[in-house]
Amino acid sequence: MQYRNYGKTGYQVSAFGMGCMRLPRIVTGDHSDVDREKAWEMIRYAADHGVNYFDTAYGYHNKTSEEVLGEALAEGGRREKVKIVTKQPFGTMEDLKTGGGKNVLDNARRNLENTLRKLRTDYIDVYLIHNIGKSTWEDIKKNKVIEEYEKFRAEGLIRGIGYSYHGDYPTFKEVLDFYSWDMCQIQQNLIDVEREATEEAIHQAGKKGCALVIMEPIRGGNLAFPPAAIQAIYDEYKAPGAKAPRSGVEWAFRHVINYPEVSTILSGVTTMEQLKDNIEIFSKPDAVPNCLNDEEKKIITRAREKYLSLKSIPCTACEYCLPCPKGVNIPGVFTRYNDGVMFGTFDPSRRAYMFQTRSNQDASLCVGCRACEKKCPQHIEITAQLKVAHERLKGWVE
Ligand code: SF4
Ligand code: SF4
Repeated sequence: MQYRNYGKTGYQVSAFGMGCMRLPRIVTGDHSDVDREKAWEMIRYAADHGVNYFDTAYGYHNKTSEEVLGEALAEGGRREKVKIVTKQPFGTMEDLKTGGGKNVLDNARRNLENTLRKLRTDYIDVYLIHNIGKSTWEDIKKNKVIEEYEKFRAEGLIRGIGYSYHGDYPTFKEVLDFYSWDMCQIQQNLIDVEREATEEAIHQAGKKGCALVIMEPIRGGNLAFPPAAIQAIYDEYKAPGAKAPRSGVEWAFRHVINYPEVSTILSGVTTMEQLKDNIEIFSKPDAVPNCLNDEEKKIITRAREKYLSLKSIPCTACEYCLPCPKGVNIPGVFTRYNDGVMFGTFDPSRRAYMFQTRSNQDASLCVGCRACEKKCPQHIEITAQLKVAHERLKGWVE
């Protein structure tokens, strides 16, 4: 396993971090539970084969992911050998009804206490404010959430403070510069180099000495199954000494391994086979910063261009059509649908769409007012396309 520095904390972390949001599941009717036996086996295997970084969150797997991780690591003294990173979203702190607290900060504390109990530990190595975005950042500052996290740290309940981020670069930079964070976590993958926080976020976090963690490098699993046109590009290259061309997974990982500023790269594994494959990739002697040569960079650029040419709805995610009076996240729906078409598999998109549905942003809410269509520079028949997308994406159970 390759290891890397983790910002200014002094931690040495495995370049591969095990994400605990896609653990193996048992589906019964319209309900699913984590398959605990399989999940424990995978987590313990990872901890015993060099992985010392585990990422989870309060809400993953219907609030059971932390518990499963805690159960797995409690055995064999593994907890002490690894870093546990978990997160609490501002929305969960705000939810006074389910949180049972009197105010946001009271709730934040209760949720952390729950998390510690579920993880069977006295401390969290790095505790994140989960999913900061443009819409929550002002409330997070106003409610002094960071100050509350500092109290947690002073009490020894957490050791580091960080945030995970979904949004554009300007807000990312504002959040980064606001506080001396121990780490930040963003999305980056070989297709969306300039989406969300962008590549620039990686460089800026590096300059500040803030540990930088990459999530979704396989784009929800999609990049693991390259369509024939992409595979043909990958097959043109064979690494020196290798017996076979690289897999889509390895190309996707190498794209992010290449950034020197990155501390660890998360992958949400579902099977033991995937886990072993990931560990093998991250254990190669050349899986290190600046690993890509010019020829490899060209292969990745061509793969990206080919992927983007396979999109079916020409949505650029410009968001000019928003806000929708019914709350439909129009570019979000189209992105899910295009991903399914582009990658030749709809399961990861259907799962992501389930989360969109839970947050009341799915296409079924559209009432056909067509206000959005007048604003779309691509002249997309949004109402008709939303119906097509909804039919293809609905019905994922978890
Ligand atoms: S047509 Fe549908 S998606 Fe568009 S603005 Fe109206 S309700 Fe929203
Ligand atoms: S305005 Fe059109 S292109 Fe832009 S996000 Fe909306 S649907 Fe996509």
